[in-house]
Amino acid sequence: MQHILTASNSDVLKLLGSRACARLGFARHIVSSGIEAVNAARHLKPRLAVLDGDMPDVNGFEACRRIKAEPTLKETRVMLVLQGPFTRDKLGQVAEAGCDDVMVLPALDAEFFAHVADLLSLPRRHGRRVTVELLARVEEGTRTWEGFIENLSTTGAKVQLLEQLPSLPFVRAWMRRQRGGRVTEVDARVVWRQDDGRGVGLEFRNVSLEVREQIEALMLWDVALEDGQLRVYLDGDFIETTDFAGLDRQLAGSVDFDASGVRYINSHGSRLWVAFLRELDTVEHYTFSRCSVAFTLQAAMLDGFLGKGRIVSMMVPYHCETCDREDIRLLQVAAITDETGALALPSFRCSRCGSRLNEEEIPEKYFGFVKR
Ligand SMILES: [Zn+2]
Repeated sequence: MQHILTASNSDVLKLLGSRACARLGFARHIVSSGIEAVNAARHLKPRLAVLDGDMPDVNGFEACRRIKAEPTLKETRVMLVLQGPFTRDKLGQVAEAGCDDVMVLPALDAEFFAHVADLLSLPRRHGRRVTVELLARVEEGTRTWEGFIENLSTTGAKVQLLEQLPSLPFVRAWMRRQRGGRVTEVDARVVWRQDDGRGVGLEFRNVSLEVREQIEALMLWDVALEDGQLRVYLDGDFIETTDFAGLDRQLAGSVDFDASGVRYINSHGSRLWVAFLRELDTVEHYTFSRCSVAFTLQAAMLDGFLGKGRIVSMMVPYHCETCDREDIRLLQVAAITDETGALALPSFRCSRCGSRLNEEEIPEKYFGFVKR
């Protein structure tokens, strides 16, 4: 059994009790003081310790330092949870503690889970949760089967049909978003078929460059309602063929965009994105979370790239000079301070060798959106 050690902070316990965290199946051990945390860590050798900065007797910073100094606890990752706003003083304490991550409260379940998943080297998402956005019609001869795409890549799809598909070697698939838009047509081989004949795995055949681009456009976004929060997952490239048509009709109220999957953005793509946000008038409030480096760089460079929204968290490239490797960390904007006019970030230790990491990007350039 794997263990997570946690301070008895009610906010943290609530975040650790989220469905996503519970699914990890870790045993939770709750400690109520810093000394207790260090002793329990020695005994349990947890994969992760979530320590509150304000614990009684020795505080979380000191408990973290002691855990990190313990040779038998090399594998234990430590997250410090702190109340905002962040100050230079707090950043100094974080640097001395040598923690692996900081979490500023209050935070959303999805944000906390993404940090935990990164610390434990686990995937943040298992496939696409869009069961309703794409409509697939699988036809052979004169018959047609309708259904939904559960999982889509440029090489194939997992499809759930409304009616049983007989055992067939090849099909032709029409794919489109549920609420309209361009139809993508592709030949496919049926690589597996569930016993009920409704769950089917397809492998696309003879995919032309044009069809590939159409599939990538279909993969670009998916919308999910998670714990009462409408979340849009953005995946892929923002380029000439990028198509946000139909996305606005699925959004209303408050929306969180998860931009962790945005790999590349060119000037055409960023114009299309800015135009999309400008016309997004059904949404009152929106945020961008877990932004990829590509997305964050565009936001830093281009006025209007975030529309009326703001970034909650982003991937930050750090560099270890000892290992000469990039170590990318997920960081909340709340963990950055501009207290003295210049931006400052928490500093962490290299996850491989333990040396202190340096920020790769100049903060003023990478975090241009913070001051705007
Ligand atoms: Zn290193």
